[in-house]
Amino acid sequence: MKLELLGVRGSTPSPGPEFVRYGGHTACVAVVPNGADEPTLVLDAGTGIRSLTSRLGGRPYRGAIMLSHLHWDHAQGIPFFVAGDRADSEVELYLPAQDGQSARDLLARMMSPPSFPIEPEGLLGRWSFHALEPGRSAVAGFEVTAAEVTHKGGRTFGYRVTDATGSFAYLPDHAPALGLDDDVRQLVAGVDVLLHDAQFVETERAMADAYGHATIDDAVDLATAAEVGALVLFHHSPARTDDQLDVLAQETRAPMPILVARQGQTLAVPV
Ligand SMILES: [Zn+2]
Ligand SMILES: [Zn+2]
Repeated sequence: MKLELLGVRGSTPSPGPEFVRYGGHTACVAVVPNGADEPTLVLDAGTGIRSLTSRLGGRPYRGAIMLSHLHWDHAQGIPFFVAGDRADSEVELYLPAQDGQSARDLLARMMSPPSFPIEPEGLLGRWSFHALEPGRSAVAGFEVTAAEVTHKGGRTFGYRVTDATGSFAYLPDHAPALGLDDDVRQLVAGVDVLLHDAQFVETERAMADAYGHATIDDAVDLATAAEVGALVLFHHSPARTDDQLDVLAQETRAPMPILVARQGQTLAVPV
């Protein structure tokens, strides 16, 4: 399979000349199955999902979207995803079950007046909304395992995605320093590629802990313990400039290859 990194920022988009090389869109990763040309699975729907419309070249989106959680930087792109918001689109949307509410009602907490002009059923095409529990599911031809991870403000999942040729894990918002369960260790164990929260650096430890995020060192420690094939530092701080990310890319040491996620990049899994 292939991963197309459509948005690699956390918190808010980062427009401006200091952010053009790594990109300013918030979290979104499109997954293209082996032998296919187009993605059938999208992880998170930050503003990066907007670029999937042009990527599809005029065709509708037919596939799944799995949200790690409902924070704005992971869900704000949904109503702006034109290829999914047309009469002939078919979208299965998954998000972490919580508070005994339906997936539709959970999504409507951010996507309804007065916060937003339309509600989930205002999206065109065939949309279905699923409140997901931890465990294994078959989604869009992939085997997907979900596990609850430590973050702040609402239930957050990490996902492990497997097909016949490889596996990757996606944990964009995760504070392993605040608690790391065995099921999360198992989720990332031995994956070919780990995309992990790297919003902060060690000098920002207090903020990382306060907001429930990882530092780059946390990501490297987890990747090392899990013996992953490659680590992709993801969910960059919106204030981290291209030049600063270049320095971090050069300075970070780990026993496996490390990549600093860059919007527009395509990664093969295994790398
Ligand atoms: Zn986030
Ligand atoms: Zn978050």
